[in-house]
Amino acid sequence: MKREFVDEKYKWDLSHMFASRLEWEKSFSATNSKIGEIGGYRGKLINPEMALKFFRLADEICLSVERLYVYAHMSMNADGTNGEAVALAERATSLSATLGAAMSFATPELTAIPEEKLDEMIRDPRFADYEYTLKCIKRDKPHVLSDKEEYILARLGEVTHGFKDIFEKIDSVDLPHPTVKAGGTKVPLTHGTYSKLLENQDPAVRKKAFATYYALYEERINTIAACYANSVKKNNIIAEIRGYKSALDASMESDDVPAGVYTKLIEAVEAGLPDLHDYMEDRREALGGTMHMYDLYVPLNNDADLGTDYEEAFETVVKALSPLGEEYKRRLIAMRDERRIDVMECEGKRSGAYSWGAYGTGPYVLLNYSGTAHDIFTIAHELGHAMHSEYSDESLCYNKAGYSIFVAEVASTTNEILLLKYLLNETKDNATRKYLLSYYLNMFRTTFFRQAMFAEFELYAHNARKKGEALTVESLSKAYLKLNKKYYGKAVIHDRQIRYEWARIPHFYNAFYVYKYATGITAAVTLADMILNGGQAARDRYFDKFLRAGGHKSPYEILKDAGVDLLTDRPYEVAMREFRTTLRALEREM
Ligand SMILES: [Zn+2]
Repeated sequence: MKREFVDEKYKWDLSHMFASRLEWEKSFSATNSKIGEIGGYRGKLINPEMALKFFRLADEICLSVERLYVYAHMSMNADGTNGEAVALAERATSLSATLGAAMSFATPELTAIPEEKLDEMIRDPRFADYEYTLKCIKRDKPHVLSDKEEYILARLGEVTHGFKDIFEKIDSVDLPHPTVKAGGTKVPLTHGTYSKLLENQDPAVRKKAFATYYALYEERINTIAACYANSVKKNNIIAEIRGYKSALDASMESDDVPAGVYTKLIEAVEAGLPDLHDYMEDRREALGGTMHMYDLYVPLNNDADLGTDYEEAFETVVKALSPLGEEYKRRLIAMRDERRIDVMECEGKRSGAYSWGAYGTGPYVLLNYSGTAHDIFTIAHELGHAMHSEYSDESLCYNKAGYSIFVAEVASTTNEILLLKYLLNETKDNATRKYLLSYYLNMFRTTFFRQAMFAEFELYAHNARKKGEALTVESLSKAYLKLNKKYYGKAVIHDRQIRYEWARIPHFYNAFYVYKYATGITAAVTLADMILNGGQAARDRYFDKFLRAGGHKSPYEILKDAGVDLLTDRPYEVAMREFRTTLRALEREM
């Protein structure tokens, strides 16, 4: 459908950001010239008065650029066929790059401020808005090298960042697209169609897709192994040069999360593996006695009859989130009434879903609602992001409101869990219950167990290399297969090709990233449990300590204040108990 034919009430109203294109243009020119003022602070940040003025100016400009950028990109996302919107987005991108270049002197200059002086600034109430920024600068200080060394690293950075780029070229440009026959049609194999083919009800189609897909990686396996091994080497070398104990420490320190959280996750997940094995066993039986690795994604329960029109789905989500109170509900309804949600699929619209917005002008949500059961969960999920932003933005200054990736998926997943429990309570229908319970179990399998397994693999690779072992096709694949067996257990046939799965995971080129998915769902399960069973005090705590906490301090500390200490066993135990209870409930429905 063309966008012009979509009912206005299903299109977002971006005038909350800029009343008109003309307003955008005015702000663009003003911001563009204001960026010129930044250069006046170069070489002067050692002086606290100047540093403070610089921070305030930077906030003002960053906020303007953010609003221009978000407005332009959201316009383009809604309709990529609109040439005017595309041009706007290009201009906003280049403005943002200009700002980045103009600000590039600031971090090295601030880092060069002597520690005592940084401490004074941190204690100075005038710097209250920048306290966490300054603390992060102080934290990184011991790992910053001399000007000359930093220059060399920065220049070489263009090369050392290349492994990710090389992998992307192999993975998304060089890989051919052989066809796989499914239900009489020949489907060209891409990353997108591969995951669809694995959901095909015909086992022969799944098997063929799996074999064809993995053959592509196997044909290039030596190249990919060399690429990954060098990427790991690079991470270890840079961590060592910067004086970190390990690449893991370097990465966790930049998240501002204790490295112990990573190892705690890997240790804690072990306790849940027997239940994962039981789940695999149940699936094997349901599949008729054998289950291959390529049978992991096929839905055993057809899409439940939750599919409804958008209005009804929205109402369901609002009801399901009622444990979060009246005010939360009022805000959800305002999202709809202020037309902050772009609902329908249309020509030129970006696929998928997201929540986005600029500080001070409220959040927006993009959907491609098609009425499936999964789409209802997407509404709850994206509104979770939106509300997290809204509460944090209104409680904190610009500099502290933005939350980090470590906590970014927590509020959204919490909402999905609340919706799931609501729907389970509401329905007596056996097929729907099975669908919901399976949905939840799969969420655990893919977001918790699978990501923890990836995390364990990354840790293995970096440690092995550090100990001087060579990372080869053989050593990487052997380690991967061992982990695959440990996680999925004996109910699954560990097909030969699965040992090469590490070779197709793009996230591995952002080392130590995926663990955040696993800790995120762990936190969400714990918080949902507290919201439903902890009484009013627990709900208030969720708002005050989490939704309103943005990124004003370490994301680990924020979750700890909210009642989820990821260095302790408890949240993992809660999550694993939840998995077990859900599994038993599904077994009872069978
Ligand atoms: Zn999300």
